Amino acid sequence: MERLKQAIRERGNVLSNEVLKVDTFLNHQIDVDLMAAVGKEFAQLFKEEGITKVLTIESSGIAPSFMTAADLGTPLIFARKKKSLTMNENVYVSKVYSFTKQETNEITVSKDFINENDTVLILDDFLANGQAALGLINIVKQAGANMAGIGIVIEKSFQDGRNQLEKAGYRVESLARIHSLENGHVTFVDELVT
Ligand code: 5GP
Repeated sequence: MERLKQAIRERGNVLSNEVLKVDTFLNHQIDVDLMAAVGKEFAQLFKEEGITKVLTIESSGIAPSFMTAADLGTPLIFARKKKSLTMNENVYVSKVYSFTKQETNEITVSKDFINENDTVLILDDFLANGQAALGLINIVKQAGANMAGIGIVIEKSFQDGRNQLEKAGYRVESLARIHSLENGHVTFVDELVT
């Protein structure tokens, strides 16, 4: 998605060879107009899949997922990283190792919101090693629901996430695929000269 790539080039900040900071439009301040375009793109890509729910993880997955769910006309559910006091024991639980925080969190989703009649689209802001997506897939499986696929705003293709998810048999659609962050410079997969 050209507009997203332009935002990454102009407003992204390469923190290291592995980490990109995009708190100017996605992870802290949110560019609502850009997120609306992201939502439209995902909705277009997955419109034939009969999706009934969009599932993401708090907090950075919520903005693009909200816009996608609005376009698809489905509810959005976000997995919680901390168990809420108002949440009873009626929950699906999965463990997720966080790439950025380097700690393992238990994520939870109420059993009230996903069941075997659902077809679920999983969305997230970044794909690194696939741990967040695999944790969400585990919850969809526990619910006995159908997986439509995985939508990612920014994929770091030099990490193993896509490989893990495709190996497990899932459709992965990423709106921007980063080949490298080396030397403080973003190179996209589709810019590679072969
Ligand atoms: P994974 O679970 O695929 O290893 O990592 C994806 C999760 O880690 C995303 O939910 C995202 O919040 C975070 N993440 C991974 N890499 C980056 C990065 O380069 N920048 C930012 N801002 N978040 C990242």
